[in-house]
Order: sequence, then structure tokens, then C-alpha cells
Amino acid sequence: MQGGAAKSALVELRGISKHFGEGETRVDALREVALSVDAGEVVGLLGPSGSGKSTLLNVIGAIVEPNEGWMRLDGEVVYEHRWLRHDLRRLRLEKIGFIFQFHNLLPFLDSTDNVALVLHLAGCPKDDSKRRAIDLLEYLQVGHRKHAMPAQLSGGEAQRVAIARALANRPRIILADEPTAALDSERAGIVMDLLRQLAAEQQAAIIAVTHDEKIIGRFDRIFRLRDGCLESTEESAAGRGGAEAGSSGTAESARASRAGARFDGSAPLR
Ligand code: ADP
Ligand code: MG
Repeated sequence: MQGGAAKSALVELRGISKHFGEGETRVDALREVALSVDAGEVVGLLGPSGSGKSTLLNVIGAIVEPNEGWMRLDGEVVYEHRWLRHDLRRLRLEKIGFIFQFHNLLPFLDSTDNVALVLHLAGCPKDDSKRRAIDLLEYLQVGHRKHAMPAQLSGGEAQRVAIARALANRPRIILADEPTAALDSERAGIVMDLLRQLAAEQQAAIIAVTHDEKIIGRFDRIFRLRDGCLESTEESAAGRGGAEAGSSGTAESARASRAGARFDGSAPLR
């Protein structure tokens, strides 16, 4: 994908449909959804409750199997009428980082081990996993909380640790279900700035479900779902060029940016 070749989308869906149940109880959660998201893009997924947002995120994350359609992730066709890979867990470990509304950190592991566990599961030796976990925590400005247990973290800190965990295996695709819903608007802004920075620095594609009107302007594009149909994709006011003009936490972002530089194209994990 590097070099002069035409840029291909990191996430590409065509005709993706998903229903639950049959007959009278059938619910069409997704109807022929087509979309694509490029490296470096941060897109917001909006829609009323029950419109299919979580289902769409879970399909892209290879958690929910669609009924039909075609999907390519990071250059690999992973679904065409059926999963083309049997090791979906590995597919997720390799390609996808999830961030949830509530951090979902394991309560009995400290920050470092919450992040290191994902690396270890992917086959990284224990010591290397810990070292990289601590680097990531520092990158996300929570290095000083590396030994804290989840219960000791503030909401913003816990979400940063969760983002570190989502990034641990260098996924190019980051999926977030209401990542800022549990945060006040200042913290929400900082998390959004961080996601934008990650997309730019790691050339990741980020798709985030949100209801949060305060952060809608920080997406490059907005996808709207209604009754399982993708209604429109619109350029956000922030647009692409707006990333650098990010309005909050600039000094902090700049520091994180410098710290993050060492992750760019550095040695692969495996
Ligand atoms: P949203 O995240 O936008 O609120 P969802 O994707 O969770 O919407 O749900 C879309 C529709 O699919 C809803 O009608 C929901 O009830 C239905 N649905 C989602 N998951 C399941 C499931 N596992 N079993 C049955 N119905 C489901
Ligand atoms: Mg949902």
C-alpha cells in the first residue's frame, strides 16, 4: 500500500446486510451498507437508538457475521457471503483496536498489565510486552499511572489506558463505541484530539459511534444510519485540514506527538 500505488481504503464495505431473527420477529439491522474509510480518517457514526450503529461497528470488527455482502479490511477481503478466515480472533488481534464507552479494563490488573496482556496474547514475550505497554502509557500521558489499578484511575485516565490497550498491536483500524460518553466535555475534547492525532501519526482509520454533539465537529466525515440504511456521509465542519487547529490541549498534544514519534514505523511487535 505504500509508494505510488493508488491509495486503497483501510475499511471497505459493499452491500453488507445483517438481520436478526426470522419471520415476524425479523429485524433488519443493516441493509446493503456500503462505505469506505481511508487511512488517517476519523469518521463519526450517528443515528437514533436501534438504527444499527453497534451492529455495523461489530461487523467491521469481525464480531458479528453479516448475512450478505463483501468487506475488505486493511487490504484483505475478509468477508464475501461468509467469513473467508476461520481465525477471527487473530484477525481482530492483528487488525483492529476496540475502544468502548466504559473502559472495560480488567479490574484485577494494573494499567501496565491491562495493556501488556493484549500484546502477550498476540505472542509478544512478557518483558517486551511490559516495556511496550509502558511506552504506550507514556505516549498517552498516563505513564505516571502505570502501576495504578483501574479503580484508582479517573475517567479520563482510564479511557487513555483503554486507548493504549486498543493501540497495543498497532491496529490500522480503530473502532470506538461512544468513546467520550462517560467524560466531561474537556476530557472528551482531549480524547478526540488524541484520536485525530493517532489517525494522522499511525495512518489509522478510526470509526467512532457518538451521540455527543460537542464532538461532532471534530470528525472528518459523518455517517448517518437510519433503520439500518446508511443515509448520508457528509464532510464535517472540521474537515480534514482542521486537525492541526485542534482547539484544546495543544501543548499536551504536542508533547504526546513528540513522544509518539518513536512509534511511527518502529520495529514491529511480533
Ligand atoms: P444502535 O447501536 O444504533 O442502537 P444496534 O445495532 O444495537 O443499534 O441494533 C440495531 C437493531 O438490531 C435493533 O433493532 C436491535 O434491537 C437489533 N439487534 C441488535 N443486536 C441484536 C441481537 N443480538 N439479537 C437480536 N436483535 C438485535
Ligand atoms: Mg449501540
